[in-house]
Amino acid sequence: MAEVDLTSVGKVYPDGTRAVTDLNLSIADGEFLVLVGPSGCGKTTALRMVAGLEDISEGTVTIGGRVVNRVPARDRDVAMVFQSYALYPHLSVRDNIGFGLSLRKLPKKEIREKVDRAAEVLGLTDHLDRKPRNLSGGQRQRVAMGRAIVREPQAFLMDEPLSNLDAKLRVQMRAEIARIQRDLGVTTIYVTHDQTEAMTLGDRVAVMKKGELQQVAPPQELYDRPANLFVAGFIGSPAMNLLHGSLSGDAANPRLQIGGQTLTLPAAVLHERPALASYLGRDVVVGIRPEDMEDSELVEAPEGSGLSSTADLVEAMGSDVLVHFAVEAAQVVTEDTKELARDAGTDVLGHMERPRTDLVARFSPRTRV
Ligand code: ATP
Repeated sequence: MAEVDLTSVGKVYPDGTRAVTDLNLSIADGEFLVLVGPSGCGKTTALRMVAGLEDISEGTVTIGGRVVNRVPARDRDVAMVFQSYALYPHLSVRDNIGFGLSLRKLPKKEIREKVDRAAEVLGLTDHLDRKPRNLSGGQRQRVAMGRAIVREPQAFLMDEPLSNLDAKLRVQMRAEIARIQRDLGVTTIYVTHDQTEAMTLGDRVAVMKKGELQQVAPPQELYDRPANLFVAGFIGSPAMNLLHGSLSGDAANPRLQIGGQTLTLPAAVLHERPALASYLGRDVVVGIRPEDMEDSELVEAPEGSGLSSTADLVEAMGSDVLVHFAVEAAQVVTEDTKELARDAGTDVLGHMERPRTDLVARFSPRTRV
């Protein structure tokens, strides 16, 4: 097990494409770090540079304190798990898991013991004699994990390992991976484009966009304190409402003007975020999580304190109801409890339920408050 450090790491492909810029990440021994971002943001490239499958154009990667820039992949002592399991169809589960160890010519007895131990961790003990074609997708994924585990590497590197599984199995395997990683305590870097997977798995989550790190933080902090508009919009489902307007009033009575409408902000917002006072009288983007907007049918909203509109879509999600409505140019979603059975076409008055705004920034998405 080991710490993995990326210092000012960059990647320019031979055709001139810049995939990663000045990436700095320090992954602690035993930590589960998730790299997340939209397609093409450079997360796979970053992982492959750590694995040794891609040259590092700039900066340094260290694993367990050793600079590995020039160390070939096979000598880096990391195990990679891909979305395609790449199992050998003619070999049994036992031989698939032990394949790498046989190549290294470990004694048969030792291989058998290591495979048995991994199979137990993975719940594969009863399937060791089967061939991959006789396994479910989830079991095949576990065999691929088994191959990584028996190598007892310094780090696991996983690239979208669950993306070939159906939705239900993905959720099951997600929990399995979290459990296995916790039990083994192996430093893990996990790449996904799925923010739910990132939020549920990571001790910390690193959000990337266009080759650049946007923020790295524990999941709840990313959710509560996004560093910029990109992170605010990317993390959370349904996505955070981002409304353009201006901040007016004074510190005791801050108000958000959105077109012709006024949303009174709880004064506590300015206590919590004193930096916001400097935005009084200026254009802002305010981010409000859907669950932080309450429909005024459920609460007593003071006169003129909400955003009035007409519900144009109501989605029953089981435990929650999502109410969509438009405010000026923005589409807004509130998450209400199912007790509020409302129909599309009825009036809504969105009201800020909790004394917090998640993000208020100027129009520039890189501004941090
Ligand atoms: P995805 O989720 O779609 O796999 P990603 O975030 O993992 O995307 P990368 O695969 O790292 O992104 O790609 C980052 C950028 O580098 C993209 O613009 C991609 O087109 C480019 N790229 C990837 N591989 C190469 C290559 N071999 N040569 C040139 N450009 C490449």
